[in-house]
Amino acid sequence: MSVEETLKPLFKEIETLKPNFIERLKTAVSIPSVSGDESLRPRVFEMADFLKRELTKLGAHDIQLRDLGIQPPPVNDPSLKLPPIVLARYGDDSSKKTVLVYGHYDVQPALKEDGWSTDPFTLKEIDGKLYGRGSTDDKGPVMGWLNAIEAHRQSGVEFPVNLVMCFEGMEESGSLGLEELIQKEAKKYFNGVDAVCISDNYWLGTKKPVLTYGLRGCNYYQIKVQGPGADLHSGVFGGIIHEPMTDLISVMGKLVDSKGKILIPGVSEMVAPVTDKEDEIYEKIEFDVDELNSAAGSDTAIYQDKKQILMHRWRFPSLSLHGIEGAFSGGGAKTVIPAKVTGKFSIRTVPDMDSAKLDKLVFKYIEEQFAKLKSPNTFKVELIHDGNYWISDPFNENFTAAKKATKLVWGVEPDLTREGGSIPITLTFQDELHTSVLLLPMGMGDDGAHSINEKLNTSNYVNGVKTLASYLHYYGAGEK
Ligand SMILES: [Zn+2]
Repeated sequence: MSVEETLKPLFKEIETLKPNFIERLKTAVSIPSVSGDESLRPRVFEMADFLKRELTKLGAHDIQLRDLGIQPPPVNDPSLKLPPIVLARYGDDSSKKTVLVYGHYDVQPALKEDGWSTDPFTLKEIDGKLYGRGSTDDKGPVMGWLNAIEAHRQSGVEFPVNLVMCFEGMEESGSLGLEELIQKEAKKYFNGVDAVCISDNYWLGTKKPVLTYGLRGCNYYQIKVQGPGADLHSGVFGGIIHEPMTDLISVMGKLVDSKGKILIPGVSEMVAPVTDKEDEIYEKIEFDVDELNSAAGSDTAIYQDKKQILMHRWRFPSLSLHGIEGAFSGGGAKTVIPAKVTGKFSIRTVPDMDSAKLDKLVFKYIEEQFAKLKSPNTFKVELIHDGNYWISDPFNENFTAAKKATKLVWGVEPDLTREGGSIPITLTFQDELHTSVLLLPMGMGDDGAHSINEKLNTSNYVNGVKTLASYLHYYGAGEK
């Protein structure tokens, strides 16, 4: 029987179970599992318990709530416990392939007073949209995997793969403990995983589904310039000493031009050239400059052309100036000369930029620029943190299965997208499990994750369950 034939009764069951699915999401949303709010930490644990109960009911096995110990500082409560990582399996058949799915059960903070139209922790369906904190990020997709299991059980359609689930409760707060767990379990709990699927991002817009195959990395730097022993008065010292801020601005002003061009020699030479196949991908993507302007809330785009915008967001590096610590930043007209200032900037990295080589180029260039000033102030440039970019092959078996699934459910080929930001855990899964990672989003670009009135369209939720389930079937049907 073809995959499409197999899926028919399953899709029917998914439609029948729709009220159950919404109810399950409603219960999940009602638990305010805000990882960034220490006072709500017990509710994050409650959410893990809810998952355990649901997974047990659905026949999952080897369910483990992995204790991650105490949360490291900075914390208000030094004995604050990290929420557990929920691990579970469904199916255990050595003749089938094994797919690991990842999601997170914690959410961003939300208060009605922030401007929500409805109570953020009461899922409410209005005009085909399910409003509530976590509806799209990421409780909807997490429930999606559970719903997919339920639909198989109810319809009697055989589950096509062995499913390994990994749901964390600290994603919105830096994924503390997850990387170590993946490293530790690569050859244990996660042994034998053939592919990884993460459903925790969004369509580019609202019209076409997407599959995501790349993320930019980020190297974050600071430049410290120190001069006088204390802040000084410009009426007394202005014009007769080397001012740290003047030095800093001079150096920071030479990093990037106003058209976004990085001025550090050697950086653009590291960027992988655009291939014809890649060029074709961008040609097909549905996007225009108006979407960028509306997202930015201004008419300030550097590029007007779709391809240029998306390539500069996804596959070329960018350098942003973020701020100056120690500088006068309030209202009014203070006549201070800051004694010590620290400028912050970061570079979003892409293939094939080597992080360590980039650091060297950055340090060398900035040191040269500072030397030209012939300033007696002390100066230091350093890396604060870095995270590598991630890129996958969007034509491999994992992506092909997701492409077929999306096409079957939505009736269109998904756009192949990358993102300008980072999801560090994607790379960790790829590197530690030596497998292909796929980002398969459920929600739309206008869902408002992290924002007020977060929502997930009911159709995206239901079709999302169908897409996740079909993906498993198409992937499972391939050769092992
Ligand atoms: Zn998320």
